[in-house]
Amino acid sequence: MKYNAEIKQQLLLLSAQLIEQVGHVNYNQDEARDVIDDIKKVMHFHDWLYYVEALPVINDFDYDRLFKKLKTLETSFPELCTPDSPTQRVAKTLTEDFPSVEHSVPMLSLENSYDENDLNDFDKRVKALTGIATIEYCVEPKFDGSSIAIIYENDLLVRAATRGDGTQGDEITTNAKRMKSIPLGAKFSDFGIYRVELRGEVVINKKTFAKINEKREEEGLQILQNPRNSAAGALRVKDSAEVEKRGLEAFMYQMAYAVNKDGNDVFNTDKLSEHFENINNLGKLGFKIPQQEKKMCKSIAEVHNFIQSWEEKRDDYEYEIDGMVIKVNSINLQKECGATSHHPRWAIAFKFKAREVETELLDVEYQVGRTGAITPVAKVKPVFVGGVTVSSISLHNEDIIREKDIRLNDIVVVQRAGDVIPYIDRVVIAKRKSDAQPFIFTKVCPSCNQPIVKPEEEAVYRCINAACEAQAEERLIHFASKEAMDIDGFGRETVSAFYAAGLLRTIPDIYKLDFSAVGQLEGWKEKSINKLRDGIDKSKKQPLWRLVNGIGVRHIGTQTAKDLVKTLNNLKELFEATPESLQSIDGIGPKVASSVLEYFHNESNRQIIIALEESGLNLKNQKTELQSAKLANLTFLFTGSLTKFTRDKAKELVESNGGKLIGSVSKNLSYLVAGENAGSKLDKAKEIATVQIIDEDAFLKMIEA
Ligand SMILES: [Zn+2]
Repeated sequence: MKYNAEIKQQLLLLSAQLIEQVGHVNYNQDEARDVIDDIKKVMHFHDWLYYVEALPVINDFDYDRLFKKLKTLETSFPELCTPDSPTQRVAKTLTEDFPSVEHSVPMLSLENSYDENDLNDFDKRVKALTGIATIEYCVEPKFDGSSIAIIYENDLLVRAATRGDGTQGDEITTNAKRMKSIPLGAKFSDFGIYRVELRGEVVINKKTFAKINEKREEEGLQILQNPRNSAAGALRVKDSAEVEKRGLEAFMYQMAYAVNKDGNDVFNTDKLSEHFENINNLGKLGFKIPQQEKKMCKSIAEVHNFIQSWEEKRDDYEYEIDGMVIKVNSINLQKECGATSHHPRWAIAFKFKAREVETELLDVEYQVGRTGAITPVAKVKPVFVGGVTVSSISLHNEDIIREKDIRLNDIVVVQRAGDVIPYIDRVVIAKRKSDAQPFIFTKVCPSCNQPIVKPEEEAVYRCINAACEAQAEERLIHFASKEAMDIDGFGRETVSAFYAAGLLRTIPDIYKLDFSAVGQLEGWKEKSINKLRDGIDKSKKQPLWRLVNGIGVRHIGTQTAKDLVKTLNNLKELFEATPESLQSIDGIGPKVASSVLEYFHNESNRQIIIALEESGLNLKNQKTELQSAKLANLTFLFTGSLTKFTRDKAKELVESNGGKLIGSVSKNLSYLVAGENAGSKLDKAKEIATVQIIDEDAFLKMIEA
């Protein structure tokens, strides 16, 4: 832990003071130096809370205000701008190339092991090499990401590089600086270190990855297949802003090289003689490290048990891991073990069982989406992989088929890891039939037979026939779906059946459904009809973002729909929208803005909205009246007996000031408001350093005008 409870309290206080004084101007140089130092200290602290500990306490608005103030002061006093300032994370220019650089010591790959016998052999070898009977091992996760090497000199980050071939990698310093889990400065001098090379793994949290793909899909961009490739790709992007967009994080797991000012190795000093402690030291310096994920084991049996416990819970873990790494803990013993030309002899990787399997590609079918996107879907001989049986696998688009050179009747490798949807990783070329022909992508829409087109900047083909039946049907299915209007009892199959029977053509038809005609269809009785009628009726009251998502504006999904309606009182305001008014909304870019305009300026789309309003749908945005955003991004829990206000009033006060109430004490809680005789919740809160405990008066002070 970089910050203890006392320092945390001091920094939170300092942070609040700085935010309060953010509007002050006219500093002389000495005053500016003090304020700059304070803001840097506070921003480093907030970055650490957010990106290392995943416990943010500041809201984006205040964070941006501090950042801007720092930037303004540094512009007025350029001599006060230091390399470790948060403003230095943002590069002004595109990186044109990534020069090759040499690692301080080679990044060797690890030998793999697959079972207990392999581990026992490894243990025996280590004991023979060192002549020691009891060896301590550090066991840690083998993150499935992309390796990097980072050099700090004189307490400042000076270089970051990819692994490359192990001897030389690509220099990616500008991109690494964009990752806020990597400190720009760290007090290695406290350990007598002048120059150090760290090893780490760049990863993407599984949830972040899913969100990024959702967004990319809405924007018509290529889907990223897995977090590992996505992280590796993002490390070498020319525009470092992309690094932030992909949510890259870096876990540091090793000090590979460390010398003092005279260039002498410092690993023999007491403080740095053990690998396990060295990782913890990196944690103390502010790096993101494996904490509960690692363990010191005193025997190889203990190592094996720990590995097994992780193999069982790997799906629940936030990051992809494909095994564990076992390292001799003593740095001296590591040196005694040495290395072959390929692998260190003091470490070994244990690979979890692969969640991939071979199967035969039987056919490729095409699906037409609600926006006309044509998606190829592989039909494979059913296989069991990663806990489910898979027979259909999306191939996303033609480029993926071509890149992987997938051909009919090929034997393909299907992977499914964690929450990631199954995908075809590669073709087993050795098993390819000699007469297999390259795949030819369809030229026409499978539903309406019209020619399909591919806009240059997009990855997918589309059917642009406005009368395409498949699209009309998909639009209805989407409208009723869980992500959109969530109409109870009106799932894909029901909508399809009604469509086929000619009961539905457009979205407004849903609210004018002829229930006597429904009664003629097979399987529909009075009870089920009433239930459906009820579900459709109830959906009229759904919040506005659901309707905005439901009507199927291109590039609009759940999140963008929510962003969009935040600024509206009534959906019809969008009839008058301009590119400027739309782009001024947080979360709405030029692409989304132009498709919103296109939709709402189109007369037949307006008629749809008006028809829906006439059927009684809610077009109004029922916002809770916000008094202020003082509590934005903060969470609260009230406990004990309250004397200044009731529970209901407390809830109202929190919500009307932009805060959120949560039900239990966890690291997600920002403030526990404790009344008299507070009990177990107070005790629990005291154990979590980031939870602030306040009384009713202090709470009222927070929302005072
Ligand atoms: Zn079509």
